[in-house]
Amino acid sequence: MERFILAIDQGTTSTRAILFDRQTNPRGSAQKELPQIFPNPGWVEHDPEEIWNATVEVCREVLNKQNIAAESVASIGITNQRETVVVWNKVTGKPIHNALVWQDRRTAEHCESLRSEGKEALVTEKTGLLLDPYFSATKLAWLLDNVEGAREAAEAGELLAGTIDCFLLWRLTGNAVHATDISNASRTLLFNIHQKNWDAELLEIFGNIPLAVLPEVRPTADSFGKTDPELFGASIPIDGMIGDQQAATFGQGCFSPGSLKSTYGTGCFVLMNTGEEAVSSNNRMLTTIAWQVNGKVTYAMEGSAFSAGSTMQWLRDGLKLFDHASESADLAAESDPAQRVHLIPAFTGLGAPWWDPYARGAILGITRDTGIADIVRAGLEAVCFQTRDLLDAMALDGAGQPSSLRVDGGMVANDWTMQFLANILGIPVERPSVTETTALGAAAMAGLQCGFWESEDDFDAHWRLNARFEPELPKERRDILHREWTQAVQRTLSKPLGKSADNCPK
Ligand code: ADP
Repeated sequence: MERFILAIDQGTTSTRAILFDRQTNPRGSAQKELPQIFPNPGWVEHDPEEIWNATVEVCREVLNKQNIAAESVASIGITNQRETVVVWNKVTGKPIHNALVWQDRRTAEHCESLRSEGKEALVTEKTGLLLDPYFSATKLAWLLDNVEGAREAAEAGELLAGTIDCFLLWRLTGNAVHATDISNASRTLLFNIHQKNWDAELLEIFGNIPLAVLPEVRPTADSFGKTDPELFGASIPIDGMIGDQQAATFGQGCFSPGSLKSTYGTGCFVLMNTGEEAVSSNNRMLTTIAWQVNGKVTYAMEGSAFSAGSTMQWLRDGLKLFDHASESADLAAESDPAQRVHLIPAFTGLGAPWWDPYARGAILGITRDTGIADIVRAGLEAVCFQTRDLLDAMALDGAGQPSSLRVDGGMVANDWTMQFLANILGIPVERPSVTETTALGAAAMAGLQCGFWESEDDFDAHWRLNARFEPELPKERRDILHREWTQAVQRTLSKPLGKSADNCPK
């Protein structure tokens, strides 16, 4: 009987289930969109019941479609949108409020006040993260302090809290197991990534969060529990849980220190494996736990740019320059090479290494000859320049120059962009044939734990290249282009000579 790993990929905008065979081929998938709830400007919520129902639905659908019985599923691996928090009642199993999503900014003031109390250095030291509403801690505090009776119930041991992996595990095991994995825990601002435990001082700093609400923290590859047999017709072991960006890093086979991947979806996320060392950054990159397999914890350095595919969405839906994102490659190829237009996609400020929340976007360098194709090209180039900014920042932190970059996400279908990326980075860009690397990384955790794959090498033997883009620009030329980009970005900063410029590449 052929056996499979079922990966559950619970993302921000959709929930997916994908079956992988031993050769890491996706052998069927099902997907359901997830409604976004915006109760106030800057607030973003998800209904946990909707997440749960969609998860069960897509798992059943993919098994039915492929005519595969639950008995043929060796194991389940879960990957998920990170940082998003759910709090639920231990007895009824019901959430006390919608999940607060990672994008939610309602706790910005809480973060600001902790920063003004001088807490950021300590928090960063312990967690590798920054004091930002993006992470889970202030969201959890908000739920405990704003949902009626929540704090008392939490202190009485009646509530449980967790990120989406944790909530799904609890439900899938028939409300039996309250656990999370170390990669998700490392995104909460409550977990000490060096000592690898919930940190009493951090729990206190973030408003006396009761330890009792927090889940047990387990390795990313671990025997987490078994599904309730009622759900899929037989009980299936759950042997892996891992945050989405870490999963993509593993799915891309970035096992050795210095190897890195970049994901181009809505935004751009670069993660570099730093091995057993938690490398701290002087350029406000994040330090995070990548995974824990066979007892060994692997760390990563992470940097992100807020707008990648979303820039294409704006050009398509906002400016109506084309109908499909895929048309952008042909348009860019038609652009006049003499045009030096820059599009700075600072729609919601700029992330690393600029860190200027008040910067706003701009299109610079236009002349009477500038046309649609030139603006589209500038939008695609911006994604590549931003990747270079992130890699340069990592290099400043001592990461060195990588020998190649593995890419994934919706945007990597764009050959023109991948070629420009190789040109501007000066290293080859490798696109795998399975671009579902996030789900694959979750499958890997489960598959390694249950012996479906014997080792990392056994799993990685199946990584296949779809295309490799070799750099074609001389160093001098790519450095000039990058310098022009840097100058253009500086013109969009809110405080060109102030704090926000401190970290600018020179
Ligand atoms: P997410 O997981 O963040 O929802 P995906 O990985 O599915 O994102 O990628 C979708 C994004 O990629 C969209 O923002 C879309 O505009 C962009 N995209 C998809 N295909 C192309 C293409 N051929 N060229 C440029 N951008 C593209």
